[in-house]
Amino acid sequence: MELANRVSSLTPSTTLEITAKAKALKDAGHDVIGLGAGEPDFNTPQHIIEAAVKAMNEGQTKYTPSGGLVALKDAIIEKFKKDQNLTYAGNEIIVCVGAKHALYTLFQVILNQGDEVIIPTPYWVSYPEFVKLAEGTPVLVEGKEANDFKITPEQFKAAITPKTKAVVINSPSNPTGMIYTAEELKALGEIALEHNILIVSDEIYEKLVYGDNVHVSIATLSPELKKQTIIINGVSKSHSMTGWRIGYAAGDSTIIKAMTNLASHSTSNPTSISQYAAIAAYTGPQEPVHEMKKAFEERLNKIYEQLMEIPGFQCVKPQGAFYLFPNASEAARLAGYDDVDSLVKALLDEEKVAIIPGSGFGAPENVRLSYATSLDLLEKAVARIKRFMENKI
Ligand code: PLP
Repeated sequence: MELANRVSSLTPSTTLEITAKAKALKDAGHDVIGLGAGEPDFNTPQHIIEAAVKAMNEGQTKYTPSGGLVALKDAIIEKFKKDQNLTYAGNEIIVCVGAKHALYTLFQVILNQGDEVIIPTPYWVSYPEFVKLAEGTPVLVEGKEANDFKITPEQFKAAITPKTKAVVINSPSNPTGMIYTAEELKALGEIALEHNILIVSDEIYEKLVYGDNVHVSIATLSPELKKQTIIINGVSKSHSMTGWRIGYAAGDSTIIKAMTNLASHSTSNPTSISQYAAIAAYTGPQEPVHEMKKAFEERLNKIYEQLMEIPGFQCVKPQGAFYLFPNASEAARLAGYDDVDSLVKALLDEEKVAIIPGSGFGAPENVRLSYATSLDLLEKAVARIKRFMENKI
C-alpha cells in the first residue's frame, strides 16, 4: 500500500545505520564499544522505583487526566518555582509521554502548512522532523563552531520571514553541549518579542551543567519573555528515567489546552505508574541527580584531554549535557577519507568503536561521542581511536 506523504518525507535516522551495524558486530561476538548512547547509563534511583511499585500496589493503574495528574503538575510547578523562580498555574502545564512527545504535540498545535520554524544547527535530530510532520518548514541557521555552535542575533534576524512562527533553543545542547548565556538569550529574546515569534526552549539537559557554567532559562529574563516561551523539560536525563517516558511543556494556557485536547485523542495520558515515579523524582531527595552530574563531569574532564591528543580531532569543550562534538574533518583528511561519514564507518569496521556522524545533526564535519558510559570503556574507546589514527597517518 502507498504510504502517506508525511512519512515518506521523514529523514531516516543517521544514527540508526551505525547503531544497527554496531549491534550486528556485537551479536557476531566482536568487542564493540558504543559511544552513541543518548541516555544516562545509571539506574533510575531506587526511591523512584519504589514509588512506582507502591503506586501499582495501591491500584494507581487506571487512566489519569490527559494533561497529567494534578499531584505531578503540582510537583512540576514547585520545581519551576524552586529552581528557576518561575510561577506557573496548573492550566499552563501538560505532562506528556517524554519531552519528545511534548515537542511533537506542540508543533502539531501551533503550525499551519508552510509556517516556518527556525532551528539552529547543529540540532537534535528530531526537531526538523517534528516541524515537517506538522506540515511546517524547518529553517536551519548555522551555529558556527567559531561561535561555540551558537547562533547570533544577526543570524536570527536574517532568517525571519512573515511566515516565521517559532524558534527552537536547546541549551545545554544535544549534540554540542554548549550553553547560551543570559546576555545571549536576552538578545535573541528581544528579537523574538519584536517579531512575535514563539520561543521553544528545550531544557532537558538543564541539570547537566559543568564547571562555572550555569543554565539560564530564557523565560526567566522578563515577564514578556516568559509569556513568549514554551519550556520543554522532563525527567529522562536529569533522573535517568528515559524508559519511563515522562516529559512536559509549560507556557501559554491556550497552547497548553490545545496540546491537552490533542493528547486526549492520541495517548489519553502518560503511563499512570510513571507519573507517580516522576512525582517521587521531583519531591524526593535530589542527591542522585547531583551524583550523576558529578560522574559525568569527571568523565568529561578526563576524556576531553585524551581526545584532544588525537591528531585531527578538534573540540570546543562542552559545557553541559553528556556529549562531545569534535570536528573530525582534519582527521578524515589525514586518514585518507573523503568525508567524516566514511571515517566513522571505518572506525567501526576496524577498531569496533561506534560514534555518531555529525551529518544527522546538520554538522557533517563533526562527530558525536556520548560519555554516558563508564570511564573504563571511554578510555578504551579513545585509545582505540588514537591507535586508528596513528595507523593511518
Ligand atoms: N530534547 C533533546 C535535546 C534530547 O536530546 C532528547 C532525548 O534525546 C529529548 C528532548 C527527548 O527526551 P525524552 O526522553 O523526555 O523524550
